[in-house]
Amino acid sequence: MRRLLVATLATALTLAGTGVAAQAAPAPGAPGIGDSYYPDYGNGGYDVSHYDIRLRYTPATDKLTGTTTILAGATQDLSRFNLDFVLDVSSIQVNNRPATFARQGDHELVVTPARTIAAGAAITIVVQYSGVPSSKVAAGFTAWTRTPDGALAIGEPQIAWWWYPSNDHPSDKATFDVSVSVPDGVEAISNGVQPRPPVRETLGYTRWSWRSLKPQATYLTFLTVGQYDVTTDTTADGSTVYNAYSQLLTPDFRDAAKASVERTAEITDWESTVFGPFPFEARGGVVTSPGTLGFALENQTRPNYSSAFFRRGSNTSVVVHENAHQWFGDSVSVRNWQNIWLNEGFASYAEWLWSEKNDEGTAQEIFDYLYATYPDDAAIWTTAPADPGTAELFGDAVYDRGAMTLHQLRLAVGDDDFFTILRTWTAEHKYGNATTEEFTALAEKISGQDLDALFQAWLYTPSKPVLAASLAAPVAPKSWAQISQTHTLLHEH
Ligand SMILES: [Zn+2]
Repeated sequence: MRRLLVATLATALTLAGTGVAAQAAPAPGAPGIGDSYYPDYGNGGYDVSHYDIRLRYTPATDKLTGTTTILAGATQDLSRFNLDFVLDVSSIQVNNRPATFARQGDHELVVTPARTIAAGAAITIVVQYSGVPSSKVAAGFTAWTRTPDGALAIGEPQIAWWWYPSNDHPSDKATFDVSVSVPDGVEAISNGVQPRPPVRETLGYTRWSWRSLKPQATYLTFLTVGQYDVTTDTTADGSTVYNAYSQLLTPDFRDAAKASVERTAEITDWESTVFGPFPFEARGGVVTSPGTLGFALENQTRPNYSSAFFRRGSNTSVVVHENAHQWFGDSVSVRNWQNIWLNEGFASYAEWLWSEKNDEGTAQEIFDYLYATYPDDAAIWTTAPADPGTAELFGDAVYDRGAMTLHQLRLAVGDDDFFTILRTWTAEHKYGNATTEEFTALAEKISGQDLDALFQAWLYTPSKPVLAASLAAPVAPKSWAQISQTHTLLHEH
């Protein structure tokens, strides 16, 4: 005992002179943050609080150059740590000293600072880089999309690797400044608000600046570059509305898109009455150029939509869906990608509630129709929403069976408790992360019911749940054609 005490004191005295706080030898941060589906996504050993992404992009060559400054805190004594990134790095500074770095696997960047970092210490990481993002393949594909007039950095779960270095997992959220210099006359759009209007730089370039004031997941941070027509407004409660429509849309697509996306403030106001206060500082939407994006994504404050959603006219279902994600997915984010039904099941159920509000079919009618029409051997029944696996991460079980689960919960606990559960969920986990087990526990707590059998059948069992009463053969609700078209495209993440 005495021997140990002396040794500890001696170590403490030695370390005191070097500023190292703890006695354990500094160790490398883990190459993954601990996701069961994507073990090497994100990283361990530090937590990011802010990204400052400062870029120049030239659409003609797809050349991206930039500097990203990351503010983080060490969560252990660190000898080195990883970032997730695929472009070509020219230098990295850690706490104002040059760091060495090496590539590992297809998206890991291993950074060794000149000095070790003590647990709890602040870390400032400055990464300078350049590259042609469309030439980089990782996880077997390229998430960065070139368009005839620019580019799109929109994807889930993978997108950040192609344009900024990060701790790429929703469980490490941060605030963002994104500033991009593009040729004069081209728009560069990202999340949040504009802290300053676009500013002309030298040599025919204009710099666009965007700021996200609330914690934001890396995959929800987007960049859309091209020729866009912009509309702006202010909501009744004073937040900015910024919508953008590709100038490459033909008039019929553009009008149908505007008849949908221009209703964003009205739709999010209605969603606020159902889900709780809108969590962010800005609202809006971007409709991208034809044939470039195959899906829509709930980018924080400003979803991006494929023009294909508007090929048959206006489509408010997809606007309802992507904006419901502002609560379910963006403010309350998955702890682990396995929890994805907490995003998609809830956003899909928002479409059912919208249909019900507009007398185009009740949630019960949509439930009945889905229950009766999916074949018994369809993936929706053979996949458990609470553990879909990566192959069915965006499959029917996550979307439709997730929404059906919520409807069964609503039937079991009644409307009052059901909507109290939703609003309590968005309030308790605002700007944070959550799991399926936390949701089921909350539902039991608020309702005072044992809901194990319901959740076991609907979330955890890879077979078709049996209903107490058999259904009459249902007809398709009026809203079904639009919801179904929306979902066919949404699954193409
Ligand atoms: Zn969705």
